[in-house]
Amino acid sequence: ILPQKTLDEVRLDVEAWAQKRKDEIEILKKNEQFRKEFLQNLSHEFKTPVFAIQGYVDTLLQGALENPEVNRRFLEKASQNVERLSRLIQDLDEISKLERGELKLHRQNFIVQDLIREAFETLALKAEQHNITFSFKKGSEQGQIVFGDKDKIRQVLINLVDNSIKYGRRNGNTIASVYNTDGKHVLVEISDDGMGIPEKYISRVFERFFRTQEGRGRDLKGSGLGLSICKHIIEAHGYNLHVRSKEGVGSTFGFSLDVARRERQLTAMDDRR
Ligand code: ADP
Repeated sequence: ILPQKTLDEVRLDVEAWAQKRKDEIEILKKNEQFRKEFLQNLSHEFKTPVFAIQGYVDTLLQGALENPEVNRRFLEKASQNVERLSRLIQDLDEISKLERGELKLHRQNFIVQDLIREAFETLALKAEQHNITFSFKKGSEQGQIVFGDKDKIRQVLINLVDNSIKYGRRNGNTIASVYNTDGKHVLVEISDDGMGIPEKYISRVFERFFRTQEGRGRDLKGSGLGLSICKHIIEAHGYNLHVRSKEGVGSTFGFSLDVARRERQLTAMDDRR
C-alpha cells in the first residue's frame, strides 16, 4: 500500500509541475526569438549584395554600358557581389550540415604546425597588403602530431588567421602558439595585436551572423558565420573554441586537439616524408 501524500506534498508536486511547464514555455519563446532573429539577419545579409547587383546592372542597362570605363568598373562590382552571395550560400550550407550533425569527421594524424604554415602561406598576400607579420611563438615550432580532421582544422586555422588580419592593425603581428599541455592534449592559439573585442560582445562572437559594430565597419565582406562554423568543427572534435580579448589590445582564439597515439605518430612522420 502506497503511503498517502500529505496536502503539503501534493502542493509541492503541483508547484514543481507548474515550474517545469513555465521553463518549457521559456525555452520555446527563446527558440522563437532566435528563429526570428536568424531570418532577419539572413534576409539582411542577402539583401545587401542583391540590391548592389541590381543597382549596377540597372545603371548599365540604362546607358552606362556605352561608357567603356564605367561598364568595366560596374561589372567588376557586380561580380564581387555575386561572389559574396555565393560565399554566403556555401557558409550557410556548411552550418546547416554541421548543425544537423551530418558532417562526418575524417580523422588522421598530422603535424599541426604544417597546417598553420599552410594557413600562413594561403594568406601571405593579404597579410602583406595589411603589413602584418606571421610568426610562431618561441618554442612552438617543433612538430606536434595530433589526431583530427585535417581539412576541417585547416579551415579553422585559415579562418582564425584571416580574422587576425581583417581585425588586426597595420604593421601588426599574428602569432601562432602550440603547447603540449599534458602529453595528451595540444593547445593551439592564434593571437593578434589588433582592435580586440569589447568585453560586452566577447561571449557573442561565436553566434551566427554576429559582428561587432567595429568589425562591420572594418570588413564589409564578412558575414559573421566564420567563427560559428569554426566552433562547430572544434566541438565535433570534443573541445571548445575559446577566446581572450581586450579592446584596443588584441585577441587570442584557441582550441585543443588530441595528441596522436604513439604508434600513430610514426606513420604520420612517414606520410610527411
Ligand atoms: P566575419 O569575420 O565574417 O564578420 P566571424 O564569425 O569570423 O565573421 O567573426 C565574427 C565577429 O567577431 C567579427 O565580425 C568581428 O567583429 C569579431 N572578431 C572575430 N575575430 C576577431 C579578431 N581577431 N579581432 C577582433 N574582432 C574579431
